Amino acid sequence: MRKPTYALAVAGVAALLLGTGAIAEEKAAVNPGEVNVYSYRQPVLIEPMFNAFTRDTGVKVNVVFAAKGLVERLKQEGRNSPADLLLTVDIGRLNDAYEAGVTAPVKTAQLTTNVPAAFRQSDGHWYGLTQRARIVYASKERVTKDDAPKSYEELADPKWDGRICTRAGNHVYQVALTAAMIAHHGEEKAEAWLRGLKANLARKPQGNDRAQVKAINEGECDISLGNNYYFGLMLQNEEQFAWAQSVYPVFPKIGDRGTHVNISGMALTKAAPNRDNAVKLMEFLVGDLAQQMYAEQNFEYPVVAGVPQAGLLRSMGELHPDDMPLARIAELRADAFKLVDKVGYND
Ligand code: FE
Repeated sequence: MRKPTYALAVAGVAALLLGTGAIAEEKAAVNPGEVNVYSYRQPVLIEPMFNAFTRDTGVKVNVVFAAKGLVERLKQEGRNSPADLLLTVDIGRLNDAYEAGVTAPVKTAQLTTNVPAAFRQSDGHWYGLTQRARIVYASKERVTKDDAPKSYEELADPKWDGRICTRAGNHVYQVALTAAMIAHHGEEKAEAWLRGLKANLARKPQGNDRAQVKAINEGECDISLGNNYYFGLMLQNEEQFAWAQSVYPVFPKIGDRGTHVNISGMALTKAAPNRDNAVKLMEFLVGDLAQQMYAEQNFEYPVVAGVPQAGLLRSMGELHPDDMPLARIAELRADAFKLVDKVGYND
């Protein structure tokens, strides 16, 4: 396998930026209606796709963006909600929407064929759109490729004593990983693992995924856990470029299975006043064009098989995702939260 180079990575970033900038907006000639989206995802990530959808179908997409509170808002609005579709990241948030009763089941041949079963709710209450892998970032200076952890389990090995940095254990990304460990190994083994990981921490959990890579750059720790797309985002950022340059990505496995992935996804709302247009948009979002655009915008992986990946992702190494259904991981989140408390992960 060819080693990733930073020149290649940066060239990939530049190509993506040029590619997405080239999308033209056009006015629809007819008025086949509208569709209303509540989005936790930033407009910059989703607007290019929505513009492409409008160009294809003439359906206008109205977006309400918020960093939080959209599920509560859907609940309050009830059947009078103008929202048709909810876009969000993390299986926890998709599952919260489902459990809050604000989603509606929908199944079409295209949705269920394109989105693998592991990445959708079985009745169609939510569908994954992109995959994000939770990977290890390892210090180029202090961790050889041979030494780098091949599995999440190895993070509990005493050889990493005082060498690992992570964010808080109760953050949704860490909770999903802990839930995945429970799903594969049972609660007892997962607890021992979490205690072992905690024992290896170089410092009290703090900061976001990128802050851990910064700490590696500053010599505070040697490896960290973080989502894969932050590698690309750091390379695009003048200050953080050096942080990214101090590490290399490693794709650990859960046991002999795959790398833990989470998703961004979508859910049809229960109210959905423009249901037909919403389903049309959902089908568009699992199509090849949108899949490629969406994944590339944020250095994520398409959920649909066979859709090309962004150049940077190809240079980072191959992703073999864990095939544990994300719905199962969502079910175990409450247990994972309890474990985090029980082992005092954040103390
Ligand atoms: Fe993130």
